[in-house]
This record gives sequence, C-alpha cells and structure tokens, in this order.
Amino acid sequence: MLTNDQLAHWDRESFFHPSTHLSQFARGEAPQRIITGGEGVFITDRDGNRLLDGFAGLYCVNAGYGRRQITDAIAKQAHELAYYHSYAGHGTEASITLSKMVMDRAPEGMARVYFGLGGSDANETNIKLVWYYNNIRGLPQKKKIISRWRGYHGSGLVSGSLTGLELFHKKFDLPLSQVVHTEAPFYYRRPDPAMTEADFTAWLLAKLEETIAREGADTIAAFIGEPVLGTGGIVPPPVGYWQGVQEILKRHDILLIVDEVITGFGRLGTMFGSQHYGLQPDLITIAKGLTSAYAPLSGSIVGTKMWDVLCQGTDENGVFGHGWTYSAHPIGAAAGVANLKLIDELGLVENAGKVGAYLRRAMTDAVGDHPNVGEIRGEGMLCAVELTSDRATRASFDPMGSVAPKVAGEMLKRGVIARAMPQADMLGFAPPLCLTTDEADQIARVTGEALRATL
Ligand code: PLP
Repeated sequence: MLTNDQLAHWDRESFFHPSTHLSQFARGEAPQRIITGGEGVFITDRDGNRLLDGFAGLYCVNAGYGRRQITDAIAKQAHELAYYHSYAGHGTEASITLSKMVMDRAPEGMARVYFGLGGSDANETNIKLVWYYNNIRGLPQKKKIISRWRGYHGSGLVSGSLTGLELFHKKFDLPLSQVVHTEAPFYYRRPDPAMTEADFTAWLLAKLEETIAREGADTIAAFIGEPVLGTGGIVPPPVGYWQGVQEILKRHDILLIVDEVITGFGRLGTMFGSQHYGLQPDLITIAKGLTSAYAPLSGSIVGTKMWDVLCQGTDENGVFGHGWTYSAHPIGAAAGVANLKLIDELGLVENAGKVGAYLRRAMTDAVGDHPNVGEIRGEGMLCAVELTSDRATRASFDPMGSVAPKVAGEMLKRGVIARAMPQADMLGFAPPLCLTTDEADQIARVTGEALRATL
C-alpha cells in the first residue's frame, strides 16, 4: 500500500490537474485531497475525513455515492461486453435501452439522442449540428451563436467560447468569432437597483434584440442557455425571461439550445429544466445526471424540426460525418440505464424539489440575516449564498471573490463541502438529489459557523 506521502509526491510531480493553479500545486502551496470512498451524500479521504458533499462532486453525483445498483450494472456490462462502437448502425442493448429511456423522459418535440462523453463535447456536437442544419437549409451565412455572460458550457474550443466567464477565455484566444455574448439574467447584479424584476427582464430582452439587430438575424443560428445559470453563480432567471427569449428567437428563426448538463434528470424538481420553465428546445445538452457520473456519458437530444433536416442532409450528402470512438460507450450506457431506473425508484426528482426548498429555508434561517449575506437563491436542489461587503450597495469583496474560498475552507474543517464559484463572491450548493432534511440542516448550520468564523 502506498503511503500518503508517496502519493502526494507523485501527484505533485506527475498529474496535470484541471482548473488548478499549476505552479502553486506543483510547489505544494495549493490544497491536495485524495478521495477514497463515498456513500450516500458523504465522501471519505485518505486522511480519514468523512465529508458531506454539498456539491455532488461537480453537480453530477445525483443519485448519491456507493449505489450498488449502478456499480453492479457497470460490472455486468464490463464482463459481458466492455466495448463496441455505435457507428454505422451498431448498438448494444444498453445503448438502445438508454436512448429509449432518455427519449421517454425528454420534453415534447424531441426526435433522437446522440451520445458523447461529457458536456463540453456534447456542446461541440450541438454547434456542428446547428451549422450543418443551416447549410442544408441553404443558409450558410446563418452561423453565429448567442450565449450569455456567466453561462458555462464547457471548456473546449467551441464550448469554451460559449462559456461566458473570463477565466475560461483569458490567454486561450477565446471566444471564437462566431460566438456573441449577451447580458446575464442575474437580478441581484442588475444595472440599476431601482429596477423591478419585470423591468430587468424587459431590459434583458431589449439587449437581446439589440444584439440580434447589430449582428443581423440572418447571421445568427442559435441561442444557448442553461435554464438556471450554474457555474456563473447558480442564478434562476427573472420572471418572464424564458418566455420573452423564446418569443424573440422564434421571430428571428434562431434555434434554442438548452444546456441541461446540470438541470437534466431531476435537479430542479422536474425531469428537465425545460419542463420547469416551459421551454421548447431545438437541442438539449445532457451529461452529469444522465449516469450520476458513475461513468462518463453525455448527449445531444435533437428536436424533430432539426432531425428532419439532418436526414435530408444525409439523403443529399451521404453519411453523417460526425462521431466519437466512445459515443454511447456500453459501460456508460449501462450506468445510465441503472441510474435512471434508480432515480425513478427512489423518487429523487420529487425529493430534489422538496428537500431543495427545505435547504434554502434552512439556509435563510441560519445565515439570512448575516450582514455579509446579500441573497440566498436557487431552484430545486440548487442553492447559492451570495456574499457582499455591504448589503446596501451589494458590493463584492473583490472581483476574484477571495472571501468565499475562505468560508468554504472553514466549512471543510467542519466536514461539509461547499463550492466557492469561479469569478463570483458566493458559495454554491448542489448536493446529491437524495439529500435528507437532516443533512440539509447540517449544511446550513455549518455554513453559519463558517461565516461567523471568517467574517
Ligand atoms: N454545460 C454545463 C451547464 C455545465 O455545467 C458543464 C460542466 O460543469 C458543461 C456544460 C461541461 O461539461 P463537461 O465538464 O462534462 O465537459
């Protein structure tokens, strides 16, 4: 058995960690944590700590850790057939069953699901589908994509461009020129404090119209958005926002891509966020909750309107030239099938709605009147605690959000994982959907203790 020191050393000298300060980590100045196990909403590390994972990994372990039903399905699939591809009409029982299960749960008007590996590649696929679609329709100039500042859609070349957070652009030469960003629907950070929520929505819609007019509707192919902004701050939209956006998009023949990587499969208390907000997507991005992260798998659910044109495209041009070796990987698909069954059996979608609302109430009781808490918000099993140096002006502590990591550090000492979100001064919570009210109370109590210890 390797010693902790040995592993820590190898880690620092060999492992290029994602989203990490590289030199600090290599010098041993950044935190290092080696995870060994998980059960329900708890994980354990090599130092013997048992931590309540208030973020479900990266908002993905929706069913909770240690689910034998899923791991047994993975093992069975691995023994029987670890891999076969899905090109040219090949499939497995797992991949076909999962397709059917996803389509049975999808919002109305969807036709097929294309499988990938993670949310970023699913969004790369989406943009290729949109471009192909407009080429087949004879509209080759209609290619730009509108995304929102504070949106997060991945960190590939296209998906990273769609992302509207500077951290993911700076020094990477992103965003690519085909991506145009519009305002974030973040009411707490509205430009004029006197605005009502309805005023703010009207302002956002006017900005969207301005963007479309400036770029020219005939150059814009699609709009992409998360039902609730995730990594950009866990921000539910203001009243009437999505209805207004959809009306504008329809008027300008602009497709709607709904990125449900976080919200898909129950997190908002409905199977999809689209159902929660009455969205009619042309494409839906799925990942994370599809397998509860027991294996990497993502997907693009394609609406009927696009599907018909894609079929026409292959009639005219032959085989659809887009595929990954691991599209619909059997082990991921088996994990997905077992996971979706488990979500139904345990009533996790309903639990997410109920216990998520309970968590926000518990959080409000615990820290709502703290002078440095500006707002507690969320939807379903998502909760954000926005920090401010001054409640009256809603000022941030500093632009890089230095306080939230300290509070999250204090929480960790007390056994709860919260996420200090990049480029925001806030704590984020997205626990597994099986969270109980007792565990919600623990998260809220520890947040209060950590805030008081820090500020
Ligand atoms: N889209 C959304 C809304 C996400 O939250 C994420 C990841 O957090 C992605 C896309 C990218 O997914 P992945 O990290 O699996 O590439």
